[in-house]
Amino acid sequence: MKNNIKIEIIPCLQDNYSYLIIDESKNDACVIDPSEAKPIINFIEKENINLKYILNTHHHFDHIGGNKELKERYNSIVVGYKHDAKRIPEISVLVEDNQMWKEDNFEAKIIHIPGHTTGHVGFYFFKEKMIFTGDTLFSLGCGKIFEGTYKQMFESLSKIRSLPDDTKIYCGHEYTLQNSNFCIAHDPQNLNLQNKIIKIKKKLNDKKPTIPSILKDEKECNIFLRAKNVESFSKLRDLKDNF
Ligand code: ZN
Ligand code: FE
Repeated sequence: MKNNIKIEIIPCLQDNYSYLIIDESKNDACVIDPSEAKPIINFIEKENINLKYILNTHHHFDHIGGNKELKERYNSIVVGYKHDAKRIPEISVLVEDNQMWKEDNFEAKIIHIPGHTTGHVGFYFFKEKMIFTGDTLFSLGCGKIFEGTYKQMFESLSKIRSLPDDTKIYCGHEYTLQNSNFCIAHDPQNLNLQNKIIKIKKKLNDKKPTIPSILKDEKECNIFLRAKNVESFSKLRDLKDNF
């Protein structure tokens, strides 16, 4: 069965991506992590889209900056992790780990993936085989550990790692090229990585996002997903912080 869900990538701020998940049968949409309102408004007014839901992966300003204005303008419902209710502006639907969130034709499993922040979640749209990973998993990288522990971050990445290989990864930032420099410096013989870097550079030259990535590629190329245990992961995370 073919569904009518389409993703629109909206570049925001310096290097953030917000995403519109559009149900083309009704022209309804969710926005993931609106960094700022304006680029979202520009797109949805041009396309006559009803912005029904705002989904936040975590509370950092570059992921929630548009919440208030979008909610006021469109009466959208803000969805976020229940223990971050005090830090996510305008939140009204509180979700928790492993919960199914289902509204209209949208259906996602909530996966708690702490480490970058303690309340970070991923939105796994399993029917469409895509996950919005915020600042936890990036293409060829992972988020900085601001509030959680190395162990939490390692386990969060393992949760994502266990999803089907053909899952599309939509992350919060266009960091792929910088991340690739770190991966190749520490994993120079990796042929899959070498090939992925060629594709990444081509996309960027064509002024296209490198996102989505595919989980299979990340498992083969992302040095943080390749780490076998918390110890080696922690070492890599420290090295990356000083790269
Ligand atoms: Zn963040
Ligand atoms: Fe961010």
